[in-house]
Amino acid sequence: MSALDDLPSLARVIAAHGLSARKSLGQNFLLDLNLTSKIARQAGDLSGCDVLEIGPGPGGLTRGLLMEGARHVLAIEKDARCLPALQEIAEAAPGRLTVLNADALGFDPLGHLASPIRIVANLPYNVGTELLIRWLTPPDWPPFWQSLTLMFQREVADRIVARPGAKAYGRLALLAQWRCDARIVMHLPPEAFTPPPKVSSAVVHLSALPAPRYPADARVLERVVAQAFNQRRKMLRAALKGVAPDIEDRLIAAGIKPTDRAETVDLERFCALARGVAEG
Ligand code: SAM
Repeated sequence: MSALDDLPSLARVIAAHGLSARKSLGQNFLLDLNLTSKIARQAGDLSGCDVLEIGPGPGGLTRGLLMEGARHVLAIEKDARCLPALQEIAEAAPGRLTVLNADALGFDPLGHLASPIRIVANLPYNVGTELLIRWLTPPDWPPFWQSLTLMFQREVADRIVARPGAKAYGRLALLAQWRCDARIVMHLPPEAFTPPPKVSSAVVHLSALPAPRYPADARVLERVVAQAFNQRRKMLRAALKGVAPDIEDRLIAAGIKPTDRAETVDLERFCALARGVAEG
């Protein structure tokens, strides 16, 4: 038994600190500690790792991460009302939890973390998607983190792991799968949260590859993929018209038929196209 086991239930913590959920902050809390420990385990072996947690709220997942042995957790929470509850957790795990009151979208956590670093979060979905894209598109690879274990609404999770030909296949799948192994590791119904959101959720685990799966310049690949899927129903020779003057030749050189649509083209051929476009 550790002092973490002696902390009050999350329902009592929420009542004691008056943490009524705020819609504006996307607050749908996880109160079942078995569930939060299970999510923490999906992040892999935490024992030698620093964990960056975004949006700890009343601290259910934070407790799971500490119970599963994280060396140190840095938790960034925008809502100052949550700080006293998180302070109680910090006292039960001396030296292992640092809580900062900040907006994760405007905060650089790097100076506060030591490698290896894993990122785990149950965030509002709009913030989560924006952070995911930032974490996937640094100028250099490998990134500062080893893995991302993130809760998303089910439809976004499907877009991250989608394969060519699937309705959900697009920019998010290509960005994620170019430099990571990505898989859905858990599905959660709305009732798992308090209050329940309108949609189902899923946890996605992404582990950073040592190098991108196929060579390509990150900026060119991002531009080509964004433009190709911007008009996903169009043939690629039309959708990519402005990308290069001889785009048909470049598509053919990359093994893509100019009449193909973006949703049928796999990652390897998008990377070949990005290399062809970068040659100028
Ligand atoms: N992790 C907790 C859990 O699983 O019960 C809370 C999850 S709740 C879906 C999202 C949390 O993220 C809330 O505590 C909210 O205040 C916080 N949050 C929202 N926007 C944020 C931001 N931009 N930066 C940091 N935290 C944010």
